[in-house]
Amino acid sequence: MTSDLVHHGESFDGTPLGFATKSIHLGNGVDAETGAIRRPITLANAYALPYDPSDINWSSSDVNLYTRNGHPNQRYLEAKLANLEGTEDAVVLASGVAALAATFTTLLNRGDHAIFSDTTYIAAYRLLNQILPEKYGIETSIVDTSDPANIARAIRPNTKLVHIETPANPTLKVTDIEAAAKLAHDAGALLSVDNTFNSPFNVRPASLGADVVIESLTKYINGHGDALGGAIATRKELTDQIRFTYQVNYGGIISPFNAWLINRGSVTLPLRMRQHNASALAIAKHLESLPQVRFVAYPGLKSHPGHDVAVRQLARPDAGFGGVLSFGLDTDHDGHNRFVSKLNVITSAVSLGHDESLIVFLGEDDERQYLYPPEFHRGFFRLAVGLEDTDDLIRDIDHALAEARL
Ligand SMILES: *Cc1c(COP(=O)(O)O)cnc(C)c1O
Repeated sequence: MTSDLVHHGESFDGTPLGFATKSIHLGNGVDAETGAIRRPITLANAYALPYDPSDINWSSSDVNLYTRNGHPNQRYLEAKLANLEGTEDAVVLASGVAALAATFTTLLNRGDHAIFSDTTYIAAYRLLNQILPEKYGIETSIVDTSDPANIARAIRPNTKLVHIETPANPTLKVTDIEAAAKLAHDAGALLSVDNTFNSPFNVRPASLGADVVIESLTKYINGHGDALGGAIATRKELTDQIRFTYQVNYGGIISPFNAWLINRGSVTLPLRMRQHNASALAIAKHLESLPQVRFVAYPGLKSHPGHDVAVRQLARPDAGFGGVLSFGLDTDHDGHNRFVSKLNVITSAVSLGHDESLIVFLGEDDERQYLYPPEFHRGFFRLAVGLEDTDDLIRDIDHALAEARL
């Protein structure tokens, strides 16, 4: 029987349990009513009130009251994620973007300044570049954070937050988390890190000095491409604020069903990450050897400018560089589309971290192209390597290149 110690991530003698053991046992337990050894999905919207409910704080997240205030399936997943990230607490919300928006709107006030990395998930860019400045009077600076000196130069007296995404979507630029944390802290600011491309199996930003770690659970942590969710792992003082503002009063709660699905998917996170890491590295090396391929961006390659930093940031000896890589072919716009149309195993669709491999062609007209390195300007693919046999994926790529006459 799983003991209480295990639920806190410790074995009988107090030594910490490994990542795989914790991925399985944390967030699960015996259902008190039925004895079932999997926790059920609790789908109720509301919970029974006490005899005298008049002194209840209706905005509280501490008791079972109303599902938007917090619910059991959310809390099981939060307990697991906080432990895997190595933070005091975690909040699980409706999507990765909800987690980003919750972080920015909770930590930044009118007149504050935020620095953010020049390649980020598109919604982070929209929020920080446009929506927060225009609607809420927040100042922001876009910075190439792969060189920490650029962060130092952008700091202002009112800088309250540095937000980085590493490796960045879709350029795979790598930022030195420890260096960014030191610069943020010296300026009295916090560092938030979008760790979606790595997952806590590969990199644990909190152990490198990050104050706030954001994950799109939609990707590797759920891993099966069938539920949206987002997490913010940080200190309890900040999760309390995020629950009060973004969860209860903006309404960004995750559904119990999605929290349950993600909790189940996350059980196999370490096994899946090892396969994503190994397969993506093999495919990146293969692509680099092909004459039709103009460039490959993958932090696991020695040719990647952020390789040494990426190696230094790995959380464990069997960690790797994630399943996402970008590459461009030595062809025109139509040649890129023709290549995708000839793939049989790899699916043309957005998203990443699914069981199946996904590819998306990002054309020459992206509005943020001025922020990308020059090799990305002629159009490129983002390939999210899935869990299929590596050889099948390599043969799919080779076959499509030949069929597309490239
Ligand atoms: C997908 C993604 C997000 C957004 O997550 P959703 O769950 O789709 O809202 C944020 N950051 C990164 C790096 C992502 O890849």
